[in-house]
Amino acid sequence: MWFRRDLRLSDNPALSRAAEDGQVLGLFVLDPALLRPSGAVRLAALYRTLRALDDQLGGALVIRSGQPSQVLPEVCDEIGAETVHCAHDYGPYGAERDAAVAQALGERSLEHTGSAYAVEPGVITKADRTPYQVYSPFYRAWRDHGWAEPHPAPTVQWLSAPSEQIPPDPALPAGLAVPDFGEAAAHRAWQRYRRTALSGYGAERNRPDLNSTSRMSPHLKWGTIHPRTLLAELGARDETYRKELAWREFYADVLHHRPDSARAYYHPQLERLQYAQGSLATERFEAWAKGETGYPIIDAGMRQLLAEGWMHNRVRMIVASFLVKDLHLEWTVGARHFMQHLIDGDLASNSHGWQWVAGTGTDAAPYFRIFNPTLQGKKFDPEGDYVRRFVPELSHLPAKVIHEPWADPNGAPAGYPAPIVDHAAERDATMADYTSLREQARG
Ligand code: FAD
Repeated sequence: MWFRRDLRLSDNPALSRAAEDGQVLGLFVLDPALLRPSGAVRLAALYRTLRALDDQLGGALVIRSGQPSQVLPEVCDEIGAETVHCAHDYGPYGAERDAAVAQALGERSLEHTGSAYAVEPGVITKADRTPYQVYSPFYRAWRDHGWAEPHPAPTVQWLSAPSEQIPPDPALPAGLAVPDFGEAAAHRAWQRYRRTALSGYGAERNRPDLNSTSRMSPHLKWGTIHPRTLLAELGARDETYRKELAWREFYADVLHHRPDSARAYYHPQLERLQYAQGSLATERFEAWAKGETGYPIIDAGMRQLLAEGWMHNRVRMIVASFLVKDLHLEWTVGARHFMQHLIDGDLASNSHGWQWVAGTGTDAAPYFRIFNPTLQGKKFDPEGDYVRRFVPELSHLPAKVIHEPWADPNGAPAGYPAPIVDHAAERDATMADYTSLREQARG
């Protein structure tokens, strides 16, 4: 059983399938191609999850470093395995890697069962069999299609083989508390959320100052819990939560059909927007990445990312809009930074989250939607508590001015930067640029 993004025993169809064949060796490959772009927080989450899985296997999890197309045949030779079981991976790298492994296995087979999604990417199509490019009709078709009930954990006789050590956690940012990981921790976190906050999700999920979202994303990233398990426990009143899980499924489906859209513009017209260049681009990116733009909600979000490896969804949208539409940097630059620092970094949700905000993606958020960071802050962090948590230079400010410290009658706070750009002016520049591109396209 080749574990990848399904580091759990229950509701794991590939493992159930492997167990039907007799004794099972559980393998995880530390693949440099996947480890390289992962920041310390995501690696720590992975290593902790592997330790938890190893405990579940009574210490029999086998860890090997290297390219899967070399490691898999070696391990099969060592134990005389004829079949490698795993879940489908629909990402562009995963699909290519699996093709290379299948070839390297020769006579032996690579058998895929299940995936990280309730409905496999590629299954939901329009009546004419083409993929959906808009979320809402995808959502209706996805919900009507439905999904299987969670599979119980199989009884497995684990084989052992020589294994490398699971690496120690990399050095983490000071003060960062990485939550518990592993299957049991994921279930505990979900049950706690269901009991305490799920009923308020619809009303409060856009408020970064409240702990109102589930924080299931890192667990879904490593598959310590399957979305089927979450969906099976949602009731009629939890429609908003079901819809958010469907965004994850939608983006996986889009990426499956358009693997290039992980890094390339889904709608290429906007590639020709006027982006900042040279040292201006570098300075702006650094101020954004460090949380020193002078816009409190942006700085709080970017500092939350550095401090926790996670950022609230509403704030992800605001900081992404700011990078593209106020600082005039390409969405790909921001997406790369997110992928490095996010504990839940997921290629499909990240690239398409960015493309949505940039107006270059599927649902194409209308190009004229440009978030005003001050108004967004006032609306979604009304008391300023979120900003106070991450931007201590502003913690003394009352709610009235915390989202516009330059308007403080006592003068701008010492040690906090003035806004690096004027939002109103940059907004006008972006609108003019978009309008001219559209006119060129028409004409
Ligand atoms: P909840 O609000 O509790 O939602 C429950 C689950 O639904 C999430 O765990 C997630 O699996 C799914 N979900 C919710 N919103 C979205 C969404 N907009 N798109 C896709 N799935 C969603 N999510 C990632 O998992 N990995 C990423 O790398 C990622 N990058 C993003 C980048 C940008 C620019 C944006 C705007 C969004 C990104 N998202 C990403 C989506 C979303 O921000 C996170 O899934 C969410 O904040 C995770 O927190 P949560 O588990 O508390 O979410």
